[in-house]
Amino acid sequence: MSNPRIGILGAGQLALMLAQAARPLGAEVLCAGHPGDPAEQAAPVLQVDLENTAQVAGFASRVDLLTFESENIAPHVLDHIHHFPLFPNARAIATAQDRLHEKRFFESCDIEVAPYCAVDSLRDLYEALDSLGTPAILKTRRLGYDGKGQFRITQRSQAPEALATLSPDPHLPTPCILEGFVNFEAEVSLLAARSRSGQIAFYPLIQNHHRDGILRTSIAPYSNLALQAQAELYLRSLLEQLEYIGVLAVEFFVAGDKIIANEMAPRVHNSGHWTIEGSATSQFTNHLRAILDLPLGPTASRPTVLLNCIGSMPPKSETDKFPTLFRHDYGKSPRPNRKVGHLTCFAEETATIQEWQRRLNDQ
Ligand code: AMP
Repeated sequence: MSNPRIGILGAGQLALMLAQAARPLGAEVLCAGHPGDPAEQAAPVLQVDLENTAQVAGFASRVDLLTFESENIAPHVLDHIHHFPLFPNARAIATAQDRLHEKRFFESCDIEVAPYCAVDSLRDLYEALDSLGTPAILKTRRLGYDGKGQFRITQRSQAPEALATLSPDPHLPTPCILEGFVNFEAEVSLLAARSRSGQIAFYPLIQNHHRDGILRTSIAPYSNLALQAQAELYLRSLLEQLEYIGVLAVEFFVAGDKIIANEMAPRVHNSGHWTIEGSATSQFTNHLRAILDLPLGPTASRPTVLLNCIGSMPPKSETDKFPTLFRHDYGKSPRPNRKVGHLTCFAEETATIQEWQRRLNDQ
């Protein structure tokens, strides 16, 4: 396909960085979102209501390939676009949308997960707490992100409050899962790309640090050959079972000599933004190469640190003073807890990293 036109559902920062990566590949990108969204810096953004089936189908008919920046595509919309060339496919999206389906799918691939129970009522929750004990984490099955849709339960008596907090309608408990608490030493993620011809490329494991449920810092690599091999085995199994095409990210807990899968994202992932500077081929380029039926690029990587800018961007005049810092401004308006950009730095620049970690944490 010469000059294929790629449609991205969504026009936020992931779409922006995909559009930036598309240009050197000679691929045209159109994004579905709202004028003024971050991706407009790099590609045309068409006004599309992503909840409106007819509008999304109309957008899909204007492009050769369809991809997306968020797996939270409304099921009624997904039903109408799964027959378009959609990468990754609808099964991968539907699995990742629901924590219960995702956990069961991990188990079917022999991937270890935290102990869990489905919770549809207060009675279920009491039974689940009896079986898993406390502390435990109640999570909505759908639409949780950045620690939202979660309640940490430390005492059995908190059960009604936990379920009520996660259920907007007090008479209709939101479907949830209760997860046993994992005493982890580290949180890591593995990103991999699988192409249309079945080629797979893995990135190094990344260590992730969250605060208030939001990813703050990612450090690559998390050097542990045994865990890297285990995580690669797990992702290979997921990618092949799902006949997956594109980049897949899986978040794990490291506990002793084991890795326990937490969740997957069927898309490019925040913990992999450092690959733009730190890898021979970025996650964005490899996602596009995968869906365009091109051979994947090498993923040889240099130790690199990613620092998210949460709430507001530091002034450019300040970041400009650090010649080894790469600044990515998504062009979003400041708002508490919003990811508005990120900084990348090679790991050997320890003084710069420490300085910017301090400044960003003080914000
Ligand atoms: P999630 O939305 O599932 O990624 O959860 C957000 C954060 O909550 C994770 O990054 C962990 O720090 C913490 N967390 C989630 N599930 C568990 C668990 N089962 N045990 C311990 N901590 C957890």
